[in-house]
Amino acid sequence: MSNQRPIYFDNNATTAIAPEVFEAMVPWLTEHYGNASSAYRMAQRAKDALQTARVQVASLLNCEPREILFTSCGTESDNAALHSALVTTGHKHIITSQVEHSAITKYGEYLERTGRAAVTWLPVERDGTLDLAALERAIRPDTAVVSLMWANNETGVLFPVAEAAALCRSKGVLFHTDAVQCPGKIPLDLATVPADFVSLSGHKLHAPKGIGVLFVRKRARFANFVIGGGQEGGRRGGTENIAYIAGLGRAAELARENLIDEQTRVRGLRDRFETELLASVPGAVVNGHRDLRLPNTTNLCFPGADGEALLHELDHHGVCASAGSACTTGSMEPSHVLTAMGLTPEQAKGSLRFSFSQKNSLEEIDFVLGLIPALLHQQKQSFPLAT
Ligand code: PLP
Repeated sequence: MSNQRPIYFDNNATTAIAPEVFEAMVPWLTEHYGNASSAYRMAQRAKDALQTARVQVASLLNCEPREILFTSCGTESDNAALHSALVTTGHKHIITSQVEHSAITKYGEYLERTGRAAVTWLPVERDGTLDLAALERAIRPDTAVVSLMWANNETGVLFPVAEAAALCRSKGVLFHTDAVQCPGKIPLDLATVPADFVSLSGHKLHAPKGIGVLFVRKRARFANFVIGGGQEGGRRGGTENIAYIAGLGRAAELARENLIDEQTRVRGLRDRFETELLASVPGAVVNGHRDLRLPNTTNLCFPGADGEALLHELDHHGVCASAGSACTTGSMEPSHVLTAMGLTPEQAKGSLRFSFSQKNSLEEIDFVLGLIPALLHQQKQSFPLAT
């Protein structure tokens, strides 16, 4: 396989830029390079492109264009939401979960370490789901914000964000959700999910890396995280990256158009992959709730396997997958998500994530389905004492 195109089953780590997205970006990287804040006509074009993208992203989320704030990435959006909530409320308590992306966990740890806020880390159930009663019990009079991811990047498990957001609204507490993994995979309707802040990242929806979105509900007060010029309606300093913003706008349109395909064909590929492996690998189990999950993600535990070695073997055959989040790959640490779900470190290290997209085909699925049992068998032969 080495000279062929890789079989890319790691779409939760990042996605290929769609040709339509690339096309939408090119003019802003070549002839129309004006600064959107300047006074001449060339700048007006850039300003118009910004507004077009704002409308496109707002349509994806069913919100108002003025509620869309462009950022540099999903991590910045997550950090900015927590920062703003702490500053505008003056409160010093945050509630989040133990299975969030490091964009939230590391920022939460930083807040704790520096005494800026206390953090309640909600546990999850064995299947990765969240108990809303535990959230309700954790809310305090000094809670600034609750931050819960919409879909988990490692398992695809969905949190009940509509209910959690409504609960927070009823208690007068701000609610943020990291929806980075969701566009194009599940419907995102902010008219029915009363979140105050929502984070997105371009490179998870076939737009480039280095561009993100923070939805800020118009009723929510906002304190700048990136301070400088008066861009983004005074809410974020930094000259706007028009090419990437235009690309993200086009990607948001495509995500809406492709939702059905993701929920049917891509789900079908995932289900075939999962069902066949569960049948062909003795003891294999799915990590995470089988139904409350993104349609493109499966996280499988192969008991006794060395997940890291399996990844390398797969890579050798041109197959890209992941052991937990991209950030933990390469380190020997078991995934914090899987251990929070009660897996032992050995079970976590024997688990791999496969995340599909519309670019994947049945032929690719069947090729890898033939490969994995053989690679696991080889591992068993090399390490016969592994259980
Ligand atoms: N949140 C989640 C759930 C993610 O999966 C990621 C990326 O892996 C991020 C946040 C960070 O996004 P970015 O890479 O754009 O900073």
